[in-house]
Amino acid sequence: IAAGVERDDLVILPSFTFIGSANAIAHCGAMPYLLDVNKDTWTLDPESLAKVLSDTERKDGRVYHRQTGRRIAAVMPVHVLGIAADMDAIVRAAKDYNLPVVADGAAALGTIYRGRKIADTGADLTVFSFNGNKTVTAGGGGAICGNDASLVQLVRHLTTTARVGADYDHDRIGFNYRMTNLQAAVGCAQLERLSEFVEKKRRIQATYANALTGLSGVLPFPDPAYGKSACWFSGFTLRNGKMESGELRKSLRERGVDARPFWKPIHLQVPFGGCPREELGVTDGLWSTLVTLPCSTSLSNADQSTVIKHVQELLG
Ligand SMILES: *Cc1c(COP(=O)(O)O)cnc(C)c1O
Repeated sequence: IAAGVERDDLVILPSFTFIGSANAIAHCGAMPYLLDVNKDTWTLDPESLAKVLSDTERKDGRVYHRQTGRRIAAVMPVHVLGIAADMDAIVRAAKDYNLPVVADGAAALGTIYRGRKIADTGADLTVFSFNGNKTVTAGGGGAICGNDASLVQLVRHLTTTARVGADYDHDRIGFNYRMTNLQAAVGCAQLERLSEFVEKKRRIQATYANALTGLSGVLPFPDPAYGKSACWFSGFTLRNGKMESGELRKSLRERGVDARPFWKPIHLQVPFGGCPREELGVTDGLWSTLVTLPCSTSLSNADQSTVIKHVQELLG
């Protein structure tokens, strides 16, 4: 809403994300426009973005999608799993069309892109999550970061019921989305440990990658040369291996290892099945081959060795 997204607009985002990204768009009355991810980064493909934007109609500085006639109002890259999207290329494409960029950095606290911290890579706003399953948590809630003071002030205004001054005067329809002091206290203590936790997450992912890459069909999570992932999650994809990913997850769970599938992409979700979209071949391939492994910051070396041993036994 702060980025100016309105009813019936389209917002471009990758289908390979958590449903919360799409829900934020739908809660503006707008509609997701789903693009594929790049096969080497698993994040919004900048070439596909540029191509989609070049095939639009421009009227009065606004950009319209030809098939639906809807305005394209914003671009939402997702730093999925803590991997940075290719922000230079994405921001360049979006700014060529005067589109705001709102990045979903929910899992990307600690992510580095071309030597810069992830919220400082050209997005107008970057949104982080402090949900209980993230690298640092406040129990729930999150943070919105940006470099444009008036835009950040607008976000703050909207989160505090759009109240003007000390009296009960409200100049638009806002939200009661402030974080509680209690949660903030937990969040501040957690943030002090961010580097420690991100280091641990990176070590866990590197240990899995070293031990498992090269086993039948196993490919590690991407690690684009332009950045450094915060490694929120660890695991691998399984292609043309000894068994299908679903079969492996089941066998691991039978052995007491909590291997899980990952997010079902947005185009396969009931509320968003009818959204406009481009070819999503990479996304479909990821969804059907991903296996995630235990990677909590509290995972002990011994437990990780046990996980590795079971994967090796099943795939070796
Ligand atoms: C975790 C996550 C979310 C959800 O964040 P909440 O704070 O739980 O709403 C959204 N998008 C991505 C990419 C995530 O990883």
